[in-house]
Amino acid sequence: ESSRLRLPPWLKTSIPKGKKFSELKEQLRNLNLHTVCEEARCPNIGECWGGGEHGTATATIMLLGDTCTRGCRFCSVKTSKTPPAPDPNEPVKTASAIASWGLDYIVLTSVDRDDLPDGGSNHFAETVREIKKRKSEILVECLVPDFAGDLNAVKTIVDSGLDVYAHNIETVEALTPFVRDRRAKYRQSLATLEAVKKFNPDMITKSSIMLGLGETDDEVRQTLEDLKTAGVDCVTLGQYMQPTKKHLLVVEYVTPEKYQYWEKVGNEMKFLYVASGPLVRSSYKAGEFFIASILK
Ligand code: SF4
Ligand code: SF4
Repeated sequence: ESSRLRLPPWLKTSIPKGKKFSELKEQLRNLNLHTVCEEARCPNIGECWGGGEHGTATATIMLLGDTCTRGCRFCSVKTSKTPPAPDPNEPVKTASAIASWGLDYIVLTSVDRDDLPDGGSNHFAETVREIKKRKSEILVECLVPDFAGDLNAVKTIVDSGLDVYAHNIETVEALTPFVRDRRAKYRQSLATLEAVKKFNPDMITKSSIMLGLGETDDEVRQTLEDLKTAGVDCVTLGQYMQPTKKHLLVVEYVTPEKYQYWEKVGNEMKFLYVASGPLVRSSYKAGEFFIASILK
């Protein structure tokens, strides 16, 4: 089967602009910091780096290398059973660069490192501490793997001093075995998010769902309910885009109206915030949404 859907107009994007965006881009040149925003050519870069109403600029940084021990069918990251060892100086180097960069909200994320005994959790935690030591006012979100269900690793992150704990459920339960790596389990992901709240009931938690993989409305609603039951505070919903021809086909381009509908549903379920739209990614304007939700 090879019928690829035509790209709808709402997914064609405009060129980023704005003063804060240009400043951040200029500063970054000398910092040797690699952002997911630039490297993945994310279409939201203008909005995220530009900040919005609250002027809270967000960027995403990848830790622990570019090679993943898993292979999800929606993701184009390189895969290996034995990726290179993490750079022990990365937490300090990354933190210094981030602290001298003029942004307000940083998302730290990584590939899955099932090869490391702690899944890379201490590396994340050290990076958070080094950032906060240098610039305590910067808001830090960690978008972490499921750590193969290891709750000690979850606790290491929770205790690191971060502001938001994020882990993506990615898709509905029925599609999970076809979409995510076989080691990723829907219930395991929920269990890690639930554990965060047990370790620290005040920690803000967040998760993300991709749409357009063939899920039904009932399944999406159930996933939102499951996230709610796990105590998750914030959810984002966005369109799955096929990264290469070898990856899962897009089954449907979900309309902007449908995203608005899910936003309404999420708000009715009393999530702290719901970001829902075709181009929304888990880190999309995370700083803006965070500030708006605490001012609510
Ligand atoms: Fe960067 Fe995420 Fe925003 Fe894209 S959505 S520009 S990756 S922070
Ligand atoms: Fe990509 Fe994350 Fe899956 Fe690795 S675990 S293949 S980085 S989505």
